[in-house]
Amino acid sequence: MSDLTFTTTEADRLPAAEREALLQDPGFGDHFTDHMVSIIWTRDAGWHDAQVLPYGPIQMDPASSVLHYGQEIFEGLKAYRAADGSIVTFRPEENARRLNESAERIALPQLPVDLFVEAVNRLVAIDADWVPAGADQSLYLRPFMIADESFLGVRAAQRARFMVIASPAGPYFTGGVKPVSIWLSQDYARAGNGGTGAAKCGGNYAASLLPQNVAAENGCQQVLFTDANSPDVIDELGGMNLFLVRDDKTLLTPALNGNILPGITRKSLIQLAKDRGYAVEERSVTVTEWREGVADGSITEAFACGTAAVITPIGQLKSPDFTIDFGDRSPGEFTLSLREELTGMQYGTREDRHGWLTQVPVAGAAA
Ligand SMILES: *Cc1c(COP(=O)(O)O)cnc(C)c1O
Repeated sequence: MSDLTFTTTEADRLPAAEREALLQDPGFGDHFTDHMVSIIWTRDAGWHDAQVLPYGPIQMDPASSVLHYGQEIFEGLKAYRAADGSIVTFRPEENARRLNESAERIALPQLPVDLFVEAVNRLVAIDADWVPAGADQSLYLRPFMIADESFLGVRAAQRARFMVIASPAGPYFTGGVKPVSIWLSQDYARAGNGGTGAAKCGGNYAASLLPQNVAAENGCQQVLFTDANSPDVIDELGGMNLFLVRDDKTLLTPALNGNILPGITRKSLIQLAKDRGYAVEERSVTVTEWREGVADGSITEAFACGTAAVITPIGQLKSPDFTIDFGDRSPGEFTLSLREELTGMQYGTREDRHGWLTQVPVAGAAA
């Protein structure tokens, strides 16, 4: 527990019958729970005014710096309803540490790791009824930090706000895990050397939306970004890291070179693959290597990974000049079994052998 005192204001909760109806098919990011967390930081007073309060609009001055200069960072993690009815989160202190790395780059204040975890736990505990129990369902948690000083001068803000909101999430893939087609973006980059590629900031997502539209126009669901200076060198997708599977029990993934977001799913899968005796090569990976490997049969599967979709098999990589296709595009065997292992740990049907789960203390927890 942090040494900050939280005040709680109870919301008028959504009636249980309406909540239960929503949880049947919550979609992703469409609905929000009854409460949210807000903590204020000022340069003079540090973090203070920690509150759990009814979910709703926040008041903001039109001169608030986030609205003008995009000083914003965020995180994404999930709370899972385990088989025994308890509620767990997956490696939340990793999200807390990464938030601070992002904060450093965007010149926002550091938030103590225990305060981050307490904020998440308090929100999940008060809105525990919103953690769905259906297959592949979870409560998606969105911690974020914004600069909200009312000042148009260009410098790091002296007032910031950290918030956590929560949204029930259904299975990312309705109708089973299906391979996606991804568009190779060589006209637009999401990050360049010395930029903000390794920070989880809204600005990176703003830069990815136009290429995402181009991908959709070309029948693809996601974009693969390459290095701004070397269009053959793979970085990652707009919001997911990339892996290739080679037939000699090797995983290939672009090294964290400062332009790639250090995914917690990525890190966890590297561990699980090593546990199975796979070699994992974190290095520069090229589109040419992917093309040639698929052509000669040595690269057998490709997948993207991130908290929201866990693991997304890639069936096809398209560019204006060529298409790399995995035959019948059914999800690869290794991809599916890694996905099954990771989600099994998260939902408590497999042993948590690395101690990745954190129990959320819920008063009077229902079994
Ligand atoms: C959040 C994110 C990821 C995935 O990170 P996880 O911790 O695995 O959810 C990958 N790439 C980008 C650009 C991201 O913002």
